Amino acid sequence: MFRFSFSEKANELFEKEFDYHRKRIFFWISFVSSIVVLLLSLNHFSQNRFHLGILNFIVSNLLLFNSIIFYRKKNILFSSILTFCFIIFTIGLSIKEQRLDGIFWSYPIVLMIHFMLHWKISLPMNMLLLVTVFYFSKEFLEGALSYKIILTLFLTLLLSHLFSILTFRIQNKMKELIVRDPLTGAYNRRQLDIMLTQAFERLKRYATLSCILAIDVDHFKSINDTYGHATGDDVLIQVVRIIQSKIRKLDSIFRIGGEEFIILLPDSNLEGAWVVAEKIRKEVEQTKILPTQTVTISIGIAEIQSNETNYQWIHRCDQLLYKAKEQGRNRCVYKIS
Ligand code: GH3
Ligand code: MG
Ligand code: MG
Repeated sequence: MFRFSFSEKANELFEKEFDYHRKRIFFWISFVSSIVVLLLSLNHFSQNRFHLGILNFIVSNLLLFNSIIFYRKKNILFSSILTFCFIIFTIGLSIKEQRLDGIFWSYPIVLMIHFMLHWKISLPMNMLLLVTVFYFSKEFLEGALSYKIILTLFLTLLLSHLFSILTFRIQNKMKELIVRDPLTGAYNRRQLDIMLTQAFERLKRYATLSCILAIDVDHFKSINDTYGHATGDDVLIQVVRIIQSKIRKLDSIFRIGGEEFIILLPDSNLEGAWVVAEKIRKEVEQTKILPTQTVTISIGIAEIQSNETNYQWIHRCDQLLYKAKEQGRNRCVYKIS
């Protein structure tokens, strides 16, 4: 199946949705961590480890500050980086003063850095952590053991990184499944509404015209009856492939019913849309999609009008398509004459 360019608007909507949940999770991580670190800080003070007590107290406050930022659904990169720099410095000092006890804290921190920062930042940050741990543990651990610590830390980082890649891919696949029709790969009806609204916005703001084509396969029922449903499906895939080969990258194709499609042609007037529609119609007719029968399509063409809604625009185009069917099919119609 070939690919279409992913709608910026649709992508933006998904990113917004994911971002909301991400920040909620980050809030809880930061908030809970700030309490844990505060308790650690108090413990250090009670044991007369003042340096560690003060550093942990600062880290706890930074984490609390970050949790407030995330709670307000914001994300300040500088604040997160500063917090992790302090955490790494604190871990270094803990290892120096408490030795093995300090090393244990580096494992959850590797995951935390990786989880909360973009990999381009988390990777150097984690490298800094690894170097810090290695540097301070080397002083009191035998060579082999400090290498083992670095190796296990590195494996933790690597595994979490692989897990992130996997999650990222699943997330992208989910986006695709939600916006596209699984049979043909065309966008589904929900996306049509989003993109038609964008066309009206462009008309209002820049006075740019857009057109839609309503396409319906002629006598599709008889194709199904003659060749079977599976061949019918193949015909739909072929038709979409032909349409895709005849439209520009910024045009979009939507499957809105069984064998009905809408093509959105942004920045096109009626004349331009007519040329595209005729090209598509002729190409479908001339392509040998089925061995013993010519597959044809009928097309209605409608230019955007500022006084209409999305629904009215589609409805007007549907009426033009209906006209094309009435006039004998395998034709394009742009006005009710
Ligand atoms: P017309 O020229 O007037 O459009 O006639 P038509 O036979 O194409 O129109 P009609 O709407 O009566 O038939 C559409 C058929 O499309 C009926 C339905 O069984 C079939 N259909 C709907 N969805 C699918 C699908 O996903 N795959 C296949 N193979 N057939 C489908
Ligand atoms: Mg139909
Ligand atoms: Mg039909």
